[in-house]
Amino acid sequence: MKLYDTHAHLTDEAYRDDLDRVLAEARSAGVIAINVVGFDLTTSRRAIELAAAQPGYLHATVGIQPNSAVDADAEDWGEIERLAADSRVRGIGETGLDRYWNDTPWGLQQDYFERHIVLAAERELPLVIHMRECGNEIADQLLSHASNGHLRGVMHSFTGDWDLCVRCLDLGLMISFAGMVTFKNGAALREVAARVPADRLLIETDSPYLSPEPLRGRRPNEPARVAHTLRCLAEARRVPVSELAEQTTANAGQLFGCETG
Ligand SMILES: [Zn+2]
Repeated sequence: MKLYDTHAHLTDEAYRDDLDRVLAEARSAGVIAINVVGFDLTTSRRAIELAAAQPGYLHATVGIQPNSAVDADAEDWGEIERLAADSRVRGIGETGLDRYWNDTPWGLQQDYFERHIVLAAERELPLVIHMRECGNEIADQLLSHASNGHLRGVMHSFTGDWDLCVRCLDLGLMISFAGMVTFKNGAALREVAARVPADRLLIETDSPYLSPEPLRGRRPNEPARVAHTLRCLAEARRVPVSELAEQTTANAGQLFGCETG
């Protein structure tokens, strides 16, 4: 079985002395590729370093997450633009909007989101989009860029309802599910996940956060555990686990331009 963890923060402190073991366990769980997602300049640089050390296995994305935008220096964005040209970078983000923390003033969040959308189009790279309690506002902002055809990107750790899911699908985005879809109180989200077209579905861990059941609460989460999320989704969709593994991995390979065969 081949799995692709499309969203992991392997730059986190939690893995500093433990990354070799974490990657070995991911490999033995069948994980054949992991996206290491940057959320500010430091982690974006580090994501590229990690991808350089594990070519073909780790892939980098670069960006400044909405909650980090308030701390970004004037030069940071220019540096992100330069990093985006690196061949190991397979996506722009994470970016998006966040109504939950509201660390960054709303206008500044929208400004940074806009920059990522433009950069992704320039570089012909998919967007990695973070949503928290403002999915419709994200879709609104993306809509103005979708007129010339479909957007490429992913709504990561999707937690919205079916109406929002349809809006995202109509924009051309893929929908990625993390540990929350496995939680006991996640029945509504599982119903949404069951309806996503098979060729638009991705899986992720969002490590070190949100360990899936039956490991909920065990930190740090790690890429090997994406297998639990896959099994939960396969059950919700009433399809064989192996079939869903193959499909989601092929979807990720196509979106991020990585060999998965
Ligand atoms: Zn993330």
